[in-house]
Amino acid sequence: MVHTGRHFLQIPGPTNVPDRVLRAIAGAVMDHRGQEFARIAAQVLENIRAVFQTKGPVVMYPSSGTGAGEAALVNTLSPGDRVLMFETGHFSQLWQQVGGKLGLQVDYVPGNWRRGASPADAQARLGADVRHAIKAVVVVHNETSSGVTSVLPEIRRVMDQIRHPALLIVDAVSSLGSIEYRHDEWQVDVTIAGSQKGLMIPPGLGFNAISEKALAANKIAKLPRAYWDWQPALKLLPEGFFPYTPAINLIYGLREALQMMREEGLENVYRRHDRHAEAARAAVRGWGLEIVCEDAREYSSSITAALLPAGHDADKLRQVILDHFDMSLGAGLGKLAGRAIRIGHLGHFNDLMLAGTLSGIEMGLRLAGVPHRDGGVAAALESLAPASKSVESVPLAR
Ligand SMILES: *Cc1c(COP(=O)(O)O)cnc(C)c1O
Repeated sequence: MVHTGRHFLQIPGPTNVPDRVLRAIAGAVMDHRGQEFARIAAQVLENIRAVFQTKGPVVMYPSSGTGAGEAALVNTLSPGDRVLMFETGHFSQLWQQVGGKLGLQVDYVPGNWRRGASPADAQARLGADVRHAIKAVVVVHNETSSGVTSVLPEIRRVMDQIRHPALLIVDAVSSLGSIEYRHDEWQVDVTIAGSQKGLMIPPGLGFNAISEKALAANKIAKLPRAYWDWQPALKLLPEGFFPYTPAINLIYGLREALQMMREEGLENVYRRHDRHAEAARAAVRGWGLEIVCEDAREYSSSITAALLPAGHDADKLRQVILDHFDMSLGAGLGKLAGRAIRIGHLGHFNDLMLAGTLSGIEMGLRLAGVPHRDGGVAAALESLAPASKSVESVPLAR
């Protein structure tokens, strides 16, 4: 089928890459051991710390987010170490599996894929661990498979109250640059991130933001590591050099994306995502569908997952939408496969892109014969531009 106009890429990552960033990436490849590149890379690594809200070092790999997650574990832990994880969804399962393959002993707190990491469970598990056998707590900040954002400051508070010395390792792959994130203030020890979600660049960069405590853990950590080893990278990065060939053109793109975020202001970036997420939820409720996230305090601002009525295949709906409107939505993953659609509203995004996205879904629901109420899009538009506010917000002529 021939499609005209622009493809709508509304999966929760990889996300739409701004033209400015694409143009930056198209720059000529340069010598990664030369002074010009070193200057660019050092500046990018300095500037990206603001997005993590950290004053500490950030290591950058030519990898996807999964690689950055493996790096976080192998640099801080030893074979047989106990690690506490929470079953929030597909991505928590990823870390459980990676941990197991690396020879860690994973305590996996069961969950229903509709809630975030539970502070009460953290309290019970860590409180019972009086000998401090648990060496790290791993939390997926924004669970991209369900649209649930764990309340990290509460997990931190529990760890502080109990005075448990475990490291706090956080997967911020789909929250960094879209949902408020504070590496230093929340005393996160390693933050795992990737390039292709809130950071608005294509896949291919993985990041670790590293605390002093994580650096100390690194000195005694015995898991084997070579490519992922922080130490050679930490020695070279301040000068803008790498122990491997960096993803040069993605770093050009990252430089431009960071500039765009600076122009908008990080607080405004967060508020924009909050606002779009609220409108997306208004649409889902308007259609009479169920939001996967069960607790309003844990609603994600970067992705909304909606359950289809029982007996209706979410993948068929996504196919109808792709065929008719050239829009890609996120598939339900794992336990939610075939049952949910995931609407990505993160990164390079605005009101009309959201309105177009939701319109495509509403038309798709009709064409696919999925029972729903009309009026989801109307509810979203009302959320974005409330009629009651029109007199205040629109300046009168003269
Ligand atoms: C996308 C994602 C990952 C995996 O990152 P890749 O870049 O696909 O390796 C991990 N965790 C979360 C929360 C994600 O959204």
